[in-house]
Amino acid sequence: MLLLGSHVGMSGDEMYLASVKEALSYQANAFMVYTGAPQNTLRKKVSELNIAKAIELMESSGLSFDHVVVHAPYIINLANPDPEKRAFGVSFLTEEVKRTDAMKASQIVLHPGSAVGGDRYQAILWIAEGVNQVIQNTAGLKVKIALETMAGKGNEIGKTFEELKQIIDLIHDQSRVSVCFDTCHTHDAGYDVKDDFEGVMKKFDAILGKSYISVFHINDSKNPKGAAKDRHENFGFGFLGFDSLMKIVYHNDFMHIPKILETPYVDDRPPYFEEIEMIKRQTFDPMLVENLKNKP
Ligand code: FE
Ligand code: FE
Ligand code: ZN
Repeated sequence: MLLLGSHVGMSGDEMYLASVKEALSYQANAFMVYTGAPQNTLRKKVSELNIAKAIELMESSGLSFDHVVVHAPYIINLANPDPEKRAFGVSFLTEEVKRTDAMKASQIVLHPGSAVGGDRYQAILWIAEGVNQVIQNTAGLKVKIALETMAGKGNEIGKTFEELKQIIDLIHDQSRVSVCFDTCHTHDAGYDVKDDFEGVMKKFDAILGKSYISVFHINDSKNPKGAAKDRHENFGFGFLGFDSLMKIVYHNDFMHIPKILETPYVDDRPPYFEEIEMIKRQTFDPMLVENLKNKP
């Protein structure tokens, strides 16, 4: 069974319940949420997230907790040269992992970090140290920290599979880490995801092992391969294109892995119902998405 969804919101009175409803409205059987705004670290208490109601709806609609993903805010940088900021990152991420567990989600996606000072190896050491601390602080929980493959803009760590491997090698409890494979990011980082996904996967498998992949972010890219930009495009509308993305979505090795769309809104409207519909029909129908522009 195809496991497909998108990122969804979590706000208002219903909070997490609204997230589940939004996912179901897209015909999704997987989804991803931020526990608050991705750009900041202001978070509501777990008791205010309306978790019990959300869980009830997931159970009654057959949406498995295994296919629910949380995304950590992207301002957290475990590689910040300032030790106080790193400590803040660790304590915030510790709480995020606890929230993820309370929400019964199986994994939390993390942008590994940025080598602000330019020393990439030092950054990798700090990231691993931070992740180890978070895992230690949440010992006993099963939540995985999924390190995301990054486009490599600025000094982002995780642009190459080798960097992710270096981090994971330094993790003491490797049952708690995995990889989030973002198709836009890997393409932007220079991997030939469009024309040689098999070759890219062979490389990934040799360096990290493909069983490390716990979630895919399925995005097209507004830029050519290697651009290191990280600008997502709607499914089929960018440099990766419909056929290449479909090969990944329906790849035999990854049918059990949730696939999450993080494609951009079209005229302030989420395109996820339409994109999921196209993917299920296995036919590129650009008007389905284009028509969102002309809606009243
Ligand atoms: Fe991300
Ligand atoms: Fe992503
Ligand atoms: Zn991105």
